[in-house]
Amino acid sequence: MGRRKIVAGNWKMNMTPTEAVALAKTLIPLVKSDDVDVVFCVPAIDIVPVVEAVKGTNIKVGAENMYIEEKGAFTGEISPLMIKDAGCEFVIIGHSERREYFQESDAFLNQKVKKAFEHGITPILCCGETLEQREAGVTLDWIRLQIKSDLQGITAEQVSSMVIAYEPIWAIGTGKTATSEQAEEVCKAIRETICEIYDADTAEKVRIQYGGSVNAKTAAELFAMPNIDGGLVGGASLKEEFGSIVNY
Ligand code: PEP
Repeated sequence: MGRRKIVAGNWKMNMTPTEAVALAKTLIPLVKSDDVDVVFCVPAIDIVPVVEAVKGTNIKVGAENMYIEEKGAFTGEISPLMIKDAGCEFVIIGHSERREYFQESDAFLNQKVKKAFEHGITPILCCGETLEQREAGVTLDWIRLQIKSDLQGITAEQVSSMVIAYEPIWAIGTGKTATSEQAEEVCKAIRETICEIYDADTAEKVRIQYGGSVNAKTAAELFAMPNIDGGLVGGASLKEEFGSIVNY
């Protein structure tokens, strides 16, 4: 059986709890799908009300981040126990904004991936190159390095069940979507890397998304590529357009 597509919205730091519930209610009828898994990844404070708002629908909820400890003196952080108890099934790990603005290293992200699995939360692990790296021709080497570091100690079974999002940094929030060929080339390389580290069966099962200015016009062509199993969507996930992306 082929891989099921998964389209996740990354709401980033945009919606107050009140706004988040209103957006969820607007999107519920638009993102109905029998064929695609739909996830809303929302700010920590929005998790509880959004989980409540989407009860009984096809939508799953994810966190945008989490810390590596269950509890303790880590002022301002949110733990895997908390997001799990609040109803999150997914968590975004290693978004380029976390890597860049909060100096999250691959070693730290590797701990987060492990923690997510310990608590039965599915990680959406992000990777991606800068424009300078692309222009220098080191994209594939860089992505392989990120994947290998972030997945150290993660079992084949765990990798089979997770989601990897390829998000070129130059395409995030810029309106500059990667071409389907560019996105496919990297997603294919990610799958080959998984095959190298694990085995063909694991590589066949892991779901790989593309993210970076995905919109209603570009989704169909991107998601039709053989190694692209859906998308991680930022800006367009805050609009009714997200419905058209899910139903590409
Ligand atoms: C993202 O930040 O995950 C993202 C893909 O953003 P955008 O769709 O706005 O480029």
